[in-house]
Amino acid sequence: MSILVLGGAGYIGSHTVDRLISNGKEDVVVVDSLVTGHKAAVNPNAKFYQGDLADQPFMRKVFKENPDIDAVIHFAAFSLVAESMKKPLKYFDNNTAGMVKLLEVMNEFDVKRIVFSSTAATYGIPEKMPIYEDDPQKPINPYGESKLMMEKIMHWSDEAYGIKFVALRYFNVAGAKPDGTIGEDHGPETHLLPIVLQVAQGKREKLMIFGDDYNTPDGTNVRDYVHPFDLADAHILAVEYLREGKESEAFNLGSSTGFSNLEILKAAREVTGKAIPTEIAGRRGGDPDTLIAASDKARKILGWKPQFDDIHKIIETAWKWHSTHPNGYNDRD
Ligand code: UDP
Repeated sequence: MSILVLGGAGYIGSHTVDRLISNGKEDVVVVDSLVTGHKAAVNPNAKFYQGDLADQPFMRKVFKENPDIDAVIHFAAFSLVAESMKKPLKYFDNNTAGMVKLLEVMNEFDVKRIVFSSTAATYGIPEKMPIYEDDPQKPINPYGESKLMMEKIMHWSDEAYGIKFVALRYFNVAGAKPDGTIGEDHGPETHLLPIVLQVAQGKREKLMIFGDDYNTPDGTNVRDYVHPFDLADAHILAVEYLREGKESEAFNLGSSTGFSNLEILKAAREVTGKAIPTEIAGRRGGDPDTLIAASDKARKILGWKPQFDDIHKIIETAWKWHSTHPNGYNDRD
């Protein structure tokens, strides 16, 4: 059997492709537009196609040339909250409309399993912590809304066409492959840990912490961090779950532990041995106080066992990537 990984050149997609290849159980086909992804991040043992999943003639060619594909893992979405506030239609087009185009072609080729990257942003501002899968989903930005709409589209496609799905709602992701060969490279970078490490490297002058007046113990936002290897393993388990003929489900993926932005900074100072100059700035907008996942359901039903349960270990892997790749994949002008 083959697995089709959409967005396999992105941060989490490339780690998943790498895990699938090292498991050695099946062929891996990757589709990525390379708009945000990096060709160099894709394990060379995967079969690579450059193109857009909403381009139906292109996707028909991919399915036709790879008749063994029995499951799709879909990472190919835009994911920046702030950008989505300014350009909502870009998100509804690429993420939401793209999902419709994809499901149409999957249905044509009778591929009836999809594992999909959803997000904690579908919950909006949670009423209580930790967050459970059946808590209300009321997104507060177009990014979260676009992903919630994708979940709903999958639900109705399951009802009508029997396309089974697993929606994996990620919380925060941080870290890199422990050997330092693949890691996080966004342009522009907006995420906390890569920015902290770029300051440690001297590539940025200082870290701006967005707000210290939140309703949390130290006033900075609290987030739940998971390593991309652990996320990758959850996707692989989700494909197995669907292959066993089980019903469509949504699962949170988090560590069930929260770290404040100041705690991340402290841990990064300890790991890197660098001072990391920091300034407190105003709130960024759209940031809930705290986001912590209840991920008992993924552990129980999928048998998910995250390996990276220590924030220092996660930061060490990211530091190895950043210090050996100061310009990331170095493939942009
Ligand atoms: N953050 C920050 N300074 C930065 C980037 C992020 O203080 O330069 C904060 C951000 O406000 C949030 C946390 O770090 O509280 C995590 O943000 P990130 O963008 O990494 O992930 P998100 O939670 O938006 O998915």
